[in-house]
Amino acid sequence: MSTPQPQTTPRRYQLFIDGQFVDAESSKTFATPNPATGETFAEVAEADKADVDKAVAAARKAFEGKWSKMSARDRGRLLYKLSQLIERDAAQLAELETRDNGKPIKESTYIDLPGVVENFEYFAGWSTKIEGETIPVPGQMFNYTLREPVGVCGQIIPWNFPLLMAAWKLAPALAAGNTVVLKPAEQTPVTALELAKLIQEAGFPEGVVNIVTGYGETAGAALASHKDIDKIAFTGSTEVGKLIAKAAAENLTKVSLELGGKAPNVIFADADIDQAVNGAMMGIFFNQGQVCCAGSRIFVEEKVKDEFLGRFKEKAEKVKVGDPMDKATLMGPQVSAEQLNRIKSWSPQLDPQFQNGYFFQPTIFSDVDNKMRVAQEEIFGPVSSVITFKDDDELIQKANDTIYGLSAGIWTQNITRAHRFAKAIKAGVVWINTYNMMNAASPFGGYKQSGYGREMGKHALDLYTQVKSVWVDLSGKPIGWFGK
Ligand code: NAP
Ligand code: MG
Repeated sequence: MSTPQPQTTPRRYQLFIDGQFVDAESSKTFATPNPATGETFAEVAEADKADVDKAVAAARKAFEGKWSKMSARDRGRLLYKLSQLIERDAAQLAELETRDNGKPIKESTYIDLPGVVENFEYFAGWSTKIEGETIPVPGQMFNYTLREPVGVCGQIIPWNFPLLMAAWKLAPALAAGNTVVLKPAEQTPVTALELAKLIQEAGFPEGVVNIVTGYGETAGAALASHKDIDKIAFTGSTEVGKLIAKAAAENLTKVSLELGGKAPNVIFADADIDQAVNGAMMGIFFNQGQVCCAGSRIFVEEKVKDEFLGRFKEKAEKVKVGDPMDKATLMGPQVSAEQLNRIKSWSPQLDPQFQNGYFFQPTIFSDVDNKMRVAQEEIFGPVSSVITFKDDDELIQKANDTIYGLSAGIWTQNITRAHRFAKAIKAGVVWINTYNMMNAASPFGGYKQSGYGREMGKHALDLYTQVKSVWVDLSGKPIGWFGK
């Protein structure tokens, strides 16, 4: 295991409100550690209700003012400019992401940052393509719709893909003409505030994007329950998702939720086993297993269980866990001591090479029954459960026997079986002979308790627009119902 290098002096960050970098009203700050060393990586301003109020007021002013007067083309150009600035600074942003989150530099460089650029670029193009319709109504009437922005959006994001989650949220909201107050996760506040610098440089009007770093229970809750927020978008745990939905219900704020998962990744005997083993690895060990769509329940057809397990184990043992700044590292530390301890509670007998960082080794539980807690609860770490099945019917029943429904994978050479599975599984995303594929143009979101709403693709625009129906009488005559 390569050893992470010691920390230099902590970086310092302020909140981004109304186009300015400012301290919290309380002057409070909090420390965010580098998960590879446990040392403080940055000291960040801690927003509370007072700061959230300021940020919402700034977003409201921007929404009612400059931003809604700007042409769609100019909005798109700003988003495109931002995507180019991110691309320019990608190497530096990838390094900051790795130091704040612990994910391998190979991932932040080749997956996170390109995804961020792609999302801003993709939604930049949508700005000029959000259109209403004309409706063929009877009589001498003209009826058309306007597709308008929702207004001020509160967005709360998790720590597993910090900058990428910010991009998934900000890009469609801004393309559709909304203004935003974004709250990053306390574990990973740094790259969102770096993004704020680029938002400033790109020339977005003041108050269009506001970033309030702080804790969920204070800043997050203040945002979710705010009376002047028109929409709240959340990604994170199902537990907190329910709190958000309750807080939003009080003001009937519109909500979209992207929550947890316990995805089935299914291996049939007729699969190419090499591909399936690689797919199982990608499903559960990518990003230290801290992925909402992680293939944490690996269903294997009984006939090939021994062959699959042997090869899966062998490969898992070879995963290079260590310093995330090392280009050869495939797994870095978990994001926080809290997450590490949560994962260790599932597997206390395994004592990982702990050092000072939050490291945990790839872990496989075999002979799991789908009813066990380990197969039902989201662990959010590199811990997989291998479950066997005999035939398609048993598989579908077990695969759907979960409160979640975010994603699913299947490995088979039989196309009929693959598509039958894709139809029968209750999940928002299905991967056939692949896993974790995503693109800014393709929708992503959950069934059941994995949430509601779809992010990315044109479907994301539904979350950030509302439809107004306009009627025009072309006859020039009185309605007549109550007489002339
Ligand atoms: P979490 O609490 O759901 O955090 C997600 C976001 O919600 C963070 O920005 C968090 O802020 C904020 N938040 C927390 N409590 C809030 C509240 N009462 N009101 C408003 N916002 C609130 O997730 P976590 O505690 O970091 O991780 C716990 C578990 O969640 C993980 O083990 C995993 O199972 C799941 N998870 C899922 C995803 C996903 O992509 N679906 C992502 C991350 C975690 P703070 O971080 O500042 O508290
Ligand atoms: Mg939390």
